Amino acid sequence: MKTAALLGNPNCGKTTLFNALTGSTAHVGNWPGVTVDKKTGTYKKLKEEIEIVDLPGIYSLSPYTPEEVISRNFILDENPDVVINIIDATNLERNLYLTTQLLEINVPVVIALNMTDIIKKNGDKIDAKILEQKLGVPVVEISALRGDGIDELMRITLEESYRTREGKTLFEDKQLLHLITDVKIAFEGKGVNNPLFHSVKLVENDEIEVKDHSDLLTIVSKYKEIINDEIFGDDFEALIADARYKYIEKEFGNVVSVSAKSSNGETKSSRIDKVLTHRIWGLPIFIAIMFLIFHFTFSEDLFFMGKMGLSIENEGWVNFFTGMGYEGEALEGIPSIGVFLQSWMGWLTGQFIAGFQWICSGFQEFGDVAANAASSTWYGSLICDGVLTGLDAVCSFIPQIMLLFLFIAIMEDTGYMARIAFILDRAFRKFGLSGKAFIPMLTGFGCSVPAIMATRTIENDVEKNRTIRLMTCFSCGAKAPIWALLAAVAVACGFGYADIFVFSIYIGGIALAVILAILMRVFSKDKYVSPFIMELPQYHLPQPKNVGAHLWEKLKHYVYKAATILTASLIVIWFLNTFGFENGSFCMVEEIEHSLIGYIGMGLKYLFYPCGWAINSDGWKFAAASVTGLVAKEDVVGTMAILFNGGAEDTLAESITSLSAAGIYSFAIFNLLTFPCMAAIATAKSEQTKKEFLKTLGFWFGVSYGMSSLVYWVGTLYEVSIVGGILVTLAIIGLVVFASFLVMKKDKFTFKTKSSS
Ligand code: GDP
Ligand code: MG
Repeated sequence: MKTAALLGNPNCGKTTLFNALTGSTAHVGNWPGVTVDKKTGTYKKLKEEIEIVDLPGIYSLSPYTPEEVISRNFILDENPDVVINIIDATNLERNLYLTTQLLEINVPVVIALNMTDIIKKNGDKIDAKILEQKLGVPVVEISALRGDGIDELMRITLEESYRTREGKTLFEDKQLLHLITDVKIAFEGKGVNNPLFHSVKLVENDEIEVKDHSDLLTIVSKYKEIINDEIFGDDFEALIADARYKYIEKEFGNVVSVSAKSSNGETKSSRIDKVLTHRIWGLPIFIAIMFLIFHFTFSEDLFFMGKMGLSIENEGWVNFFTGMGYEGEALEGIPSIGVFLQSWMGWLTGQFIAGFQWICSGFQEFGDVAANAASSTWYGSLICDGVLTGLDAVCSFIPQIMLLFLFIAIMEDTGYMARIAFILDRAFRKFGLSGKAFIPMLTGFGCSVPAIMATRTIENDVEKNRTIRLMTCFSCGAKAPIWALLAAVAVACGFGYADIFVFSIYIGGIALAVILAILMRVFSKDKYVSPFIMELPQYHLPQPKNVGAHLWEKLKHYVYKAATILTASLIVIWFLNTFGFENGSFCMVEEIEHSLIGYIGMGLKYLFYPCGWAINSDGWKFAAASVTGLVAKEDVVGTMAILFNGGAEDTLAESITSLSAAGIYSFAIFNLLTFPCMAAIATAKSEQTKKEFLKTLGFWFGVSYGMSSLVYWVGTLYEVSIVGGILVTLAIIGLVVFASFLVMKKDKFTFKTKSSS
């Protein structure tokens, strides 16, 4: 089987092409840094299969970041049969910079000229023939997004994979070329593969090359004494880069002929960006969009009817359209699509459990009788009160979570998510948070594991460690059921609105990350903020294929997780909940407080006293649920279902009545910020040194414990005295503002001392 590697700049469409070629559903991220490791798949439409390798996006073959090292080493050391160099045709000259380096390696190359659909739409023209002549390799026009031209691309790729190609340089500076040729001969003498590539890199003073071939440095330095450029002096890296760009501009400056329509710079994307990334309105618009998303997913009152005092008799078809959960009650509003689906899902899983109870009871009367009978045998209790009750609680939130993921997938696919990183970078760079850190953090809305892996793109270790620590502020998908449940509890207790509750958790998390970053900077000596250069991809309508594939992956993952790790942990939790010590012997217990989990929870409860949610008589249940959340975050909900509900008729949210509003928030904050699940903890461990990892663990626990307590006590103060609450809140805001002021001042000071030295 032949191997073809996909190489190109970040955001040129590699992953889109990879997915189109292999039918894979690798995640298409609309920002650099999402493909950190290489991925492989197979193209099967030709008589011979071709293995496709998706490499991290890079701008040059001189490694500065870990991703660049992966891509460079793959091409030099793994000897792919052919490299497909993807070029974003709307950004031709910058993309060709990498091409001029790639062509110096002895490997067949095919150029995939991507995004030609945009070129056509803008009314521009591109002359692929000139490219082909000058570069000396085949050029195929494609649109990875629409699948145009990709079969032709692969046909030519297979042909090329049987050829060999000698590397060549593409720039014209005579002195440099002379030097490079001499060094190349020396490399050939040493029997090194790809002598031309190594020779150019050595002349460029490339770090890896200088280390590996220090013996050849004398030749280079002898020559270098002769050449001394007026502009670049003896910076040979800059000299060669300049030579490459000059060549590209001279030869390829006219390959794309720009029509009048796009030459005045007013593409549709730039018009949309004028609004969405507006200096002042960008951030409020983002917040408003987030609110709408949570409103559509979690609101019980989509059109604010309840607030206007309208209500509807909930009968017949109204009942059907508003979900089963509302049967028999007058409606205070029309539920959002998320709540509607959730109440149907809850009804469905409820019927499912009732069926099992009926079977386990030996086909007694359906309903309460069957439920009681099922609970009386150990197997009936295991299946109905343990596994099914837990899974019911976790799975009934599937529709809402899928809806949330749908919105996130749309934001990513259209190109808006990349703008969010840009907006956040602009707003918070002064406080030491760069967009480089926000990209992994925003990935964290999906899952912390790939998000923590994506911090590899941050070169600065202090910033990388900080980003990993702040990751828990960004609520991952597995925590969403906890918010959905707590929101329902808040509504059932009459404290508030579900959508606002969940919205405040997400936005509050981002705000907290910023505040913590500021505080961490006050106490840190390191002032470095990574530069953030990102190209914003053009907006396009969400592609049902991309979005659908993404959702399908999530759903599969969720169901798989429920069937494996969640079921297994629910069995353990059921066991701990059912067995214990009563009357001096180990047995199935009557009183839940005497169960094993009861003892564990009672012990832990005191540890969490300051956080507030552990104070009441049910406090031990919350403590136990938080601990099981370490295995998987969905277990928090599963555990609460078993401990609170145990086969009772009323819904879970209604049986949790022991928390105050402050308690609900404080419990949510604790679970948001505390240790993530095992998988994420293990990922952090592998990304950090031992010392930093231990600090991270301490940070997660300390911050969650501290913030949870703070929220509880300030919240309780509000319940007692609003004035007191406001005063304390103002004091806290004052502290944060003071800290930000310190950070800005500190940075200015260091900047001054640096520039004056
Ligand atoms: P990668 O960083 O190189 O892996 O790039 P991605 O595959 O993640 O694509 C970056 C963005 O470009 C995504 O929003 C894609 O939907 C978009 N994109 C990729 N190929 C095309 C194309 O041929 N036409 C258009 N209009 N957009 C594309
Ligand atoms: Mg990619």
